[in-house]
Amino acid sequence: MAAHARKCYLRAGPPMTALRSMPPEVRELRGQWPSQVERVPFLTAELEKDFRFGQRISKTERGYYMGGTIKGGTSSVWYPSSREEYDAYHQWRKLEGLHEARDEKALMRLLGILQPNGIELVTRRHGNASRAEAKPYEGFGPLYSTCADVLVALPVSHLSRPELKRIHLGGWGPDSAKASAYTRGTDGTGGSVLMYDFAIRGARRTFVGLFLHELGHAHESALSQDERQKLERAYDVIRDADAFMGIEFLLERSARKLHQKFSLNEFLAETYLIYTACGTALRAFIAEQEEKVRTAWESVYEVFRATFLGIEYE
Ligand SMILES: [Zn+2]
Repeated sequence: MAAHARKCYLRAGPPMTALRSMPPEVRELRGQWPSQVERVPFLTAELEKDFRFGQRISKTERGYYMGGTIKGGTSSVWYPSSREEYDAYHQWRKLEGLHEARDEKALMRLLGILQPNGIELVTRRHGNASRAEAKPYEGFGPLYSTCADVLVALPVSHLSRPELKRIHLGGWGPDSAKASAYTRGTDGTGGSVLMYDFAIRGARRTFVGLFLHELGHAHESALSQDERQKLERAYDVIRDADAFMGIEFLLERSARKLHQKFSLNEFLAETYLIYTACGTALRAFIAEQEEKVRTAWESVYEVFRATFLGIEYE
């Protein structure tokens, strides 16, 4: 076919801005979470689900055990396991998990992003989870690298505001087995993103999803009254039509959609994640909605685009 027969559709709206890209493991959130069962010997769908949820297999003098810490780190449950499952765990972890490794360069790179913006990095490790370490733990290398990749892709203004003054990695939350949290720091100390042991021991996909979700809480905390009102009006329409976009990490898509239904703030935090991780997929999702919902979603997108200083994502 002659090339001139092809039509070119330009996106309507404000002038095109350069699209930014999140790292590949973040962009993957827009698609289905592919199972590793076919690739890893002895991995079953059930085991995969457990590993993604932060369960692990340990080798002890008395044999292999599968389990992990539950209920806020105060207790743990272990079940007898096998050599085959142990091997499956380690192979799965190479593909999807977060492993610990020293990486001073990654730590320096992350601190180079955090320190000029006045953000403190605090680490806690199990065994000593209640006390923060005096210096960031060096063994979280791959985690530091991932955090740095995500943070450099955000507008600098999102890093240099009182709503984000601290990033905690590791340790346990006040409630039972919480994965992650955001605290506003109403005592004047500024906001903190808290990624607990659960989030840093399961799948990388869950970590990046939760990390951007919690950064999204810092963002919704920083919105002006006007922006919030505009978003709330749009949210009402989207909620009534149950037209949330769901992405799969930690839980199934349907659960992440439901999570947004009962709270404007949860919707806004999840939208921050979706805006940055799923740019093209979000724009396609909005375009296929019926008119009323589409208009509501377009106004959500506009507020996000403006609060991202015009930056949009691939
Ligand atoms: Zn949340």
